[in-house]
Amino acid sequence: MDRRTFIKTTIVGGAAVSAFGFNLTQVRAQTQALKIARTTETRSTCPYCSVSCGVIIHTIGDRAKNTTPQVVHVEGDPDHPINRGTLCPKGASLEQDILNERRLVKPQVRRPGSDHWEDISWDDAINEIAQKVKKTRDETFVEQDQSGHTVNRCEGIGWSGGCTDTNELNFLAVKTMRSMGVCYFETQARV
Ligand code: SF4
Repeated sequence: MDRRTFIKTTIVGGAAVSAFGFNLTQVRAQTQALKIARTTETRSTCPYCSVSCGVIIHTIGDRAKNTTPQVVHVEGDPDHPINRGTLCPKGASLEQDILNERRLVKPQVRRPGSDHWEDISWDDAINEIAQKVKKTRDETFVEQDQSGHTVNRCEGIGWSGGCTDTNELNFLAVKTMRSMGVCYFETQARV
């Protein structure tokens, strides 16, 4: 039997018996019990490199009380124009990045002179960042260059975007940075 005939026989066999004698009904039942059969799909972007491949994150859990959503699978997004479902080995292991006890899920700060990082609340982190941005801008703002041209730029702050930043976030980032006179900004993404 050639390959084409084998496949044809298998499909035509349907709920009956395949060319090799196994019951396709049981095979079909097993297929329906795959681990992604009842998952919620969330589209996202691989965070590892500037290619910015699209991924689908499968999460189990029906959002009912007393259930904890759990990521069970990550795969390439076939509808994404960059990677069309493919992932490199690093992106294919993304689930291990999400489900990792060493993953950083809260802000931390390392104070000047300190040899360790300490946890900080989101409110404190945002307040401290705001204070430092204000202080740095006040100290490094340049109204005129050496030739006397008005430039109104902040030379002490730079912005670096990540590959998972959306168009909307980048739009707001540029607006915010420009409004402060920041002229040094870049993004990792090359999309
Ligand atoms: S899957 Fe690979 S190539 Fe694509 S963004 Fe992730 S690390 Fe980069």
